[in-house]
Amino acid sequence: MSALYLPVPLPSFLVMPLAETHAIEQEPSATVRGMVVPGGFAVSESLLSRLPNLEVISVFGVGYDGVPIALCQQRGIRVTNTPDVLTEDVADIATALVLMTSRRLAEAEKFIRAGSWTSGAFPLAHALRGKTAGIVGLGRIGKAIAYRLTAHGLTIAYFGRQQQVVAYDYCDSLCGLAKKADFLIVACPGGSGTKHLINAKVLSALGSDGILINIARGSVVDEVALIAALKTGEIRGAGLDVFENEPQVPAELIDSEKVVILPHVGSATHETRQAMAQLVRDNLAAHFANQPLVTPVC
Ligand code: NAP
Repeated sequence: MSALYLPVPLPSFLVMPLAETHAIEQEPSATVRGMVVPGGFAVSESLLSRLPNLEVISVFGVGYDGVPIALCQQRGIRVTNTPDVLTEDVADIATALVLMTSRRLAEAEKFIRAGSWTSGAFPLAHALRGKTAGIVGLGRIGKAIAYRLTAHGLTIAYFGRQQQVVAYDYCDSLCGLAKKADFLIVACPGGSGTKHLINAKVLSALGSDGILINIARGSVVDEVALIAALKTGEIRGAGLDVFENEPQVPAELIDSEKVVILPHVGSATHETRQAMAQLVRDNLAAHFANQPLVTPVC
């Protein structure tokens, strides 16, 4: 029975089946051969040094920005993640944030619950049709967002490190995309390569009618610059599922009526989390049976 180390609590529907075929360790040690971590969990060098016989890290999530890939490659540690199975749910949440921010749905709900309807109608909001969505990172989730927003009548443009063979307009500069976009939608990976990609300059290019949507990672957006841009009216609003220091969310964002905030629920459905758990188990089973990994990162 190979030993697995779980540095943070994970859902019982993932852990209980794993415990039938593995010894679950509460502390890092030389007996541990596999580790399971949630997406975005920071795997430090010092933790890895306490796991000298680690063979595989299985990330319960698609984003593996917390895993030091170069170090894992050096040590021959395999890394797996859970792509595809969560794509549609996350794209749904991005679409919901576009609708909530443009149609002011959270405010409208508060309005009726506060009993304000009897004193007058809710103020007008903005339509989606005819607007442009600029997608930062047209990957699996970015494409699923584009598909949904096309159905809502938006034009799609995108920015990434390279142009793709797709029917959408490519912008080779992020500020260029922001200028074009009514909604700038962040769907690229987190990590050092994208830290604060969305900065004051990009927000200024998005402009006073623009809305920022982030379903990627909090680290991609400079939150201080975002708060300033919202306060001064440099952008109109934001829809955020992720934050720089989750679960801590700055009071300025919590208190702002221009912002719709969600507690990182992109993939948080029973169906998707079960599918992610299955993929974690399938990857570990493949590794320990010396078979090719189902969804390898490296
Ligand atoms: P993916 O298929 O790998 O797509 C990522 C896209 O980002 C690629 O098209 C890539 O295109 C682009 N990209 C990479 N580096 C970039 C950079 N420096 N600047 C601009 N674009 C860049 O990944 P995915 O499955 O769509 O997932 C995307 C991210 O969503 C994950 O990494 C994760 O952090 C986040 N996520 C969030 C939730 C949530 O609950 N909110 C759930 C799941 C995933 P190029 O290579 O052409 O640049």
